Amino acid sequence: MQYLRDLGIFDFYRRDSVVVIEPTLQEPVIPPRNPVPAQPPVGSFVAPPSRAEALRAIQFEIGDCKRCALSKGRNKIVFADGDPNARLMFVGEGPGADEDAQGLPFVGRAGQLLNNMITATGLKREQVYIANIVKCRPPQNRVPEPEEANTCSPFLFQQIDVVRPEVIVALGSTAATYLLGVKSSLSGLRGRLHACRGAKLVVTYHPAYLLRDPRQKKEAWQDLKLAMAELGLSVPAR
Ligand code: URA
Repeated sequence: MQYLRDLGIFDFYRRDSVVVIEPTLQEPVIPPRNPVPAQPPVGSFVAPPSRAEALRAIQFEIGDCKRCALSKGRNKIVFADGDPNARLMFVGEGPGADEDAQGLPFVGRAGQLLNNMITATGLKREQVYIANIVKCRPPQNRVPEPEEANTCSPFLFQQIDVVRPEVIVALGSTAATYLLGVKSSLSGLRGRLHACRGAKLVVTYHPAYLLRDPRQKKEAWQDLKLAMAELGLSVPAR
C-alpha cells in the first residue's frame, strides 16, 4: 500500500472499514533525465601495430548503418581521419555538407580553420585523430538529437579506446556534453582538465563558432596550449 502511495498517483485510506482509493491532487514526481546515459566500460588495450585493423573492424561493424534517422539524409558515413596511434584527438559534433560529400571529418571551412589550429601547435593533421559525436550529417546541420548522439557515440567510444589518445580536445558543447556525460555551459568547462575514458580532456570552441566570432580565437589558442602542455610538447612561438 505504501508503495502505491509513493507512486504519488493514488491515495488510500480506510473509512468505515472500507479502503477508499482516490487520485491524489499532487502531480506525480518525474525524476529529471540526463540526456546522456552512462558510458560503456573502457575496452581492452589494443597494441599500437593492431590499432588500424581494430578501427577497420569498428567501421565494418557500423556497416551501412540505419540505426538512427540521420541515415536517411546522409550521403557518406564520416568515420574518422588521422593516425590510429595519435596522442592527440579532436572530436567535433557531426559532419556538414562537405564532410557528407567526401566521407571525411572537418574538410570544409571549419575544417580549414581546424587544420590551421593544428598547424599552429607544431603538429600535422596526419599526426592527430579526428572524429565526431555523430557520423552522419544532421539535416540543415542542426545539433544532433540525444537519441541520435546516444546511438552513435558508443562507436566513438570504441574508437577512443582503440586509439588511446593521451589528450582529447572537445570542439564545442555537443562534443563536450557527450564525451563528459553531462550537459554544462562551455564557459564552465573551458580552461581546465577533465577526464574521458583514460584520457585528459580539454574543452574549446567549435571552429565553426570561431569563424563567426574570430575574437574568441585567442581563448581557443589558450585551450590548445593547455592540451599541448599535457602532452609535454612545446608550441612554436607565434
Ligand atoms: N563540424 C563538425 O562538427 N564536424 C565536422 O566534421 C565538420 C564540421
